[in-house]
This record gives sequence, C-alpha cells and structure tokens, in this order.
Amino acid sequence: MPYPDSEMQHDTTTFNRHYLCPCGKHTVHSLTDPAGKTQHQILCPTCSLTFTVVHIPANRITQGQGLTLTLVRLVPLKDHLQHQKWVQKLHDLQRKVLKRCTEKHLPTFMKVVLSPEQPADRWKMLCTLAGPPTRSLKAFLNYGPRAQERMIRNHFHLARLPQIMSGLAVEDAEVQRLLSELTELGNKIHLQELRFLERGHVLQGKSVQQRHSAVVRAQ
Ligand SMILES: [Zn+2]
Repeated sequence: MPYPDSEMQHDTTTFNRHYLCPCGKHTVHSLTDPAGKTQHQILCPTCSLTFTVVHIPANRITQGQGLTLTLVRLVPLKDHLQHQKWVQKLHDLQRKVLKRCTEKHLPTFMKVVLSPEQPADRWKMLCTLAGPPTRSLKAFLNYGPRAQERMIRNHFHLARLPQIMSGLAVEDAEVQRLLSELTELGNKIHLQELRFLERGHVLQGKSVQQRHSAVVRAQ
C-alpha cells in the first residue's frame, strides 16, 4: 500500500516472540499487538494438551502493592481448571453473603448509622461501624440528606461486611459460616496463585524476537 504523505498515520508495530515450551522441544508463540495486548499460543503438540497460559495480576500476590503488572506462567491445565472452579465458587459465595446481608441486615445498619441527630455524628458512627468513610467529614456535611444516605448505603459492601457485622453485633450463624468459608477459599486461591508463580513454567529460553513494523493509513 502506498504511504500518503499528508494523511494521518499510525503505528501498527507488533512483537513476535518464541519461547521454549515446558518440554523444551517446541515453542510458545507470543504476539503483542500495537495496543500492548499480548496473546500466547502453545505450539507444542504435547504441551498444548497438558498446559495452559495463565495471567496473574501481580497486585493480587503482593497484596495491592504491585502495579498493574501481569505475570505470565504456563501451568498444568488441570490445576488451572481447579483454580477457575474455586474462583467461580468464590464469586457465588460473595453474591450469596451480600444478598443475605442486604436483605437481613442493611436496614439495621442504616437505622444505627442514621440514629444520631447530627450529620457529623452520623459520619462518626459510619466510621465506627464500617471503617474510614470514603468521603471526608467536610465533604459529607456538604451533601444533602438524600446524598448522605446514599453515601452511607454505599459502604455496605462485601469488603466492609465482616467489620459491619461484628460492629452491629449481629447474631447470624449463616452469615458467619459464609464469611469464614469466603476467607478460607480466598486463602486457598491465593496460595494456588503463589504456587503458579513459583512452580509455573516461565516464558524464557530461546527467545527469537521479531519486530514487524508498518505504518499504514488511518481509516
Ligand atoms: Zn512442549
């Protein structure tokens, strides 16, 4: 295609790399598109049957300290399927506990937080029950009553539920059971991801890097 001089142009550089597969006889092809998105394909007939590529967000491993970095490993397919099953179960449990708490305990939460007369005291009550509010006291006081209520309501979410439930001193064996099951499952998933990182196959070895660059006309 001829390159017009006056048209807007954009870069469509892609990166092709080949790494050794786990058995070492073939390769894993990695292709990064101009947007920076990378796809991997296991080109080995043996490894493609027993391994799969997983992307593990680094911040899940470092407890929020990592950047948006994603770590890539090749792990046994059966371990990956187990991981997916656990993650699915975790999401189901999260939905279940949130549904039950919203139905049974949200009204009590709202009643307790809204019980003080003064908005400033309501903000402090929210802080006591649900942890540091997402808005400063100053910002909270600038809201109208409706917006204040909405803001309080928004604190009733999964991450704050354990604290809220114990703050309200609610006796709900089912919620307690679900919450501890959630913690246990979360730990199990976390450990498995650590194992993926430590024991998974790292993409390295005979990396053949090819850079295909073309400047094409923007559509
Ligand atoms: Zn292989």
